[in-house]
Amino acid sequence: LLPLGAFIAAFIIGMVVWLSRRRLSPLGELQIAVRKHEFIVHYQPIVALRTGNCVGAEALVRWRRPDGSLVRPDLFVPLAEESGLIAAITDQIIALVVLDLKKLLVANRSLHIAINLSPADVRTARVLPVIEKALQHTGIQPRQIWLEATERGFVDVGSARSTVIRARELGHAVAIDDFGTGYSSLSHLEGLPLDALKIDKSFIDTIATDSATSSVTPHIIDMAKTLKLKIIAEGVETQAQVDYLMERDVDYGQGWLFAKPMPAAEFMAYCRRAGLP
Ligand code: C2E
Ligand code: CA
Ligand code: CA
Ligand code: CA
Repeated sequence: LLPLGAFIAAFIIGMVVWLSRRRLSPLGELQIAVRKHEFIVHYQPIVALRTGNCVGAEALVRWRRPDGSLVRPDLFVPLAEESGLIAAITDQIIALVVLDLKKLLVANRSLHIAINLSPADVRTARVLPVIEKALQHTGIQPRQIWLEATERGFVDVGSARSTVIRARELGHAVAIDDFGTGYSSLSHLEGLPLDALKIDKSFIDTIATDSATSSVTPHIIDMAKTLKLKIIAEGVETQAQVDYLMERDVDYGQGWLFAKPMPAAEFMAYCRRAGLP
């Protein structure tokens, strides 16, 4: 009788929890997720195209629901940005990255992890002291933390510029993400002391096809070189794309051809297999 009673009690509690969550708005659910630290980070390797070595990874957030399912970032990051919850999420990601990869980053000084910043993070520079504090007493060097922000983050050039300058003074590298999809022009970028440019997947997709945008890709590469930026091609899925990129001296690639985003332990194993820089 006792186990049956316990089972019924657990069932009722479960139903109450489920119903109370179900009645919440998406924003209410996200607020709880932030409070309960329901986010995890997966790491997608970034490889040196010439050697195939692993040079680092991009940290990509996922929301792990209490039922164990993972929610993709495009389904909650926009709401988090609109509502301002993104600041708390970014802070949690910074802490997770440091916790997850401390050993690997300390053992190999040339590895880096790129963290995605939202436009608000870039505008306010609020994250910089958060990162500084998270790195204290870890042995991880600031140059092992890269920051990436999309063109949306650089629309307000004045504040973006001071954030980029400050980030680089602290030792971080800064990359412009999803390049080619937004408002940036060459003149826009010239005023920003960036380190790297990530070519958006939509341009990589057109490589080795004859679509109109495929003619844009070489111009993006040339422009990045003129500005002395390191280039990372995102969404690399085929060897034909790698061949094209290597012919044009693009240094780094990231995409399913190499690896999908994965938990920290798997990423460490991947790097050891692929070779470290
Ligand atoms: P993103 O910064 O452009 O990240 C790259 C996305 O492309 C990732 O999707 C990655 O899984 C996916 N991807 C990489 N290689 C390939 C490939 O070869 N083929 C295909 N089809 N997809 C590939 P994910 O993880 O779903 O992230 C989506 C977006 O959510 C990111 O786009 C980024 O804008 C945003 N995001 C992710 N994590 C964070 C975060 O921690 N903070 C913020 N603010 N935004 C984040
Ligand atoms: Ca990114
Ligand atoms: Ca990107
Ligand atoms: Ca992209």
